[in-house]
Amino acid sequence: MDSSLSAHRDNKNGPACAFFIASDVRGLSGKKSSVSIPSFNLGLSSKSSDVKNGAFKMHEYDKCVRCGSCLQHCPIFEVTGEEQFSPRGKMYLIQVMDLIEQDEELAKEFRRVLFQCTLCGRCSEVCSSDVDLLHVWHEQRAKATGTAPLEFEYLDALKDALANVKNIYGLDPEDRAVYWMDEVEDDIPNIEDRVYAPGKTADVMVFLGCLMSFRSTQIDVVKALLKTLERTGTDYLVMGSEEFCCGHPLHLIGDESGAETLRAHNKSVIHDAKAKKVVTTCPGCLIQLSKYHNLENVDALHHTQFFDQELESTPSTTRTEEFAYHDPCELHRILGISEEPRSLLAKLNVNYREMDLACCGGGGLLRMTDPNLSEKVIQLRKSKENLQETTVVTACPSCREQLLSTGLETVDIVELLDEALEGGSE
Ligand code: SF4
Ligand code: SF4
Repeated sequence: MDSSLSAHRDNKNGPACAFFIASDVRGLSGKKSSVSIPSFNLGLSSKSSDVKNGAFKMHEYDKCVRCGSCLQHCPIFEVTGEEQFSPRGKMYLIQVMDLIEQDEELAKEFRRVLFQCTLCGRCSEVCSSDVDLLHVWHEQRAKATGTAPLEFEYLDALKDALANVKNIYGLDPEDRAVYWMDEVEDDIPNIEDRVYAPGKTADVMVFLGCLMSFRSTQIDVVKALLKTLERTGTDYLVMGSEEFCCGHPLHLIGDESGAETLRAHNKSVIHDAKAKKVVTTCPGCLIQLSKYHNLENVDALHHTQFFDQELESTPSTTRTEEFAYHDPCELHRILGISEEPRSLLAKLNVNYREMDLACCGGGGLLRMTDPNLSEKVIQLRKSKENLQETTVVTACPSCREQLLSTGLETVDIVELLDEALEGGSE
């Protein structure tokens, strides 16, 4: 999965990236920078917009004024130090796309760069011109995979798995239920009764998602979640083998029709079960359930929202180590859920410090499209936050995987909740 861009990135004394060469031709300095890009011929920018019936139609990307406010917040620019990976750099390239597309190699490099991004949304949040950058990245990814499918053949295994067995790992759908049921039956002997089958109904449907269903690293969180649901007397079912992937991975690569097929099945199961709420621990799944499944009269909730609503108070944690809270990007920035996790931590009397609201490097499918880059982001984060002696609390299985990969102590909030409700930390 090496690329000429990666090669340039790793060779600090090596040749400038092809983009810089193209940029230089057009008077762009091309150097990585905290310095602002000089303005260029406005005629180039206007080419990216449409003139229809004499009316000038402004594209979202035309709104970028190249102020550079986004640079310091982009995790990819932070680890690469190269402008073409930054929001501003990509905005510039889109503005001169007419010219980029005349050069096959440049167009190819640009398409690759689009997938070297975590879709963390921080650029959208800080943009001085209010550019909806996340929307632009999604739009451009869809265009890239549609225009040059051969360049994205490495995503075919993922697409095939989702089309055939409906999970990202390509495993038998039956295993989605079996794996975690085996693991939790000691704690919840009647767990089989909690697995959805046609005709069964419940107030709450638990949507585990692919990571939680199949990754052994997540089993402690699954156990804590289900035990806490039992303790709170919740009437719930888990979708089991009837759960299909939520469609988020396909959404991230612009395959909306593939995602829609998965969503339609999940929607019918949730409605058949007459659920009033669907609860998930995964912010990616929650984006799909709350924004794209078009559920009727069903509240889609993150588990921190659900338990914060259910529990007015909780016993205090008996854990005494140092904690820090890592706020998952998709949870707080895209879904706007930031109060409930902190409210639960306050109820648990957890002393924690806030971390920078920065990305862990695990979003946007980056771990698949450029694992080295993803690793660099989390390693830099780890050293900047000085986390060696700290337990990182989070509320996202994907962030948790990323944090665990660096050897950090990591817990999901529901694990702290489960321990406290059980009478103290184990
Ligand atoms: S979404 Fe995140 S990683 Fe992607 S360009 Fe914006 S700040 Fe950088
Ligand atoms: S903050 Fe917005 S306007 Fe400024 S350079 Fe970044 S994308 Fe462009």
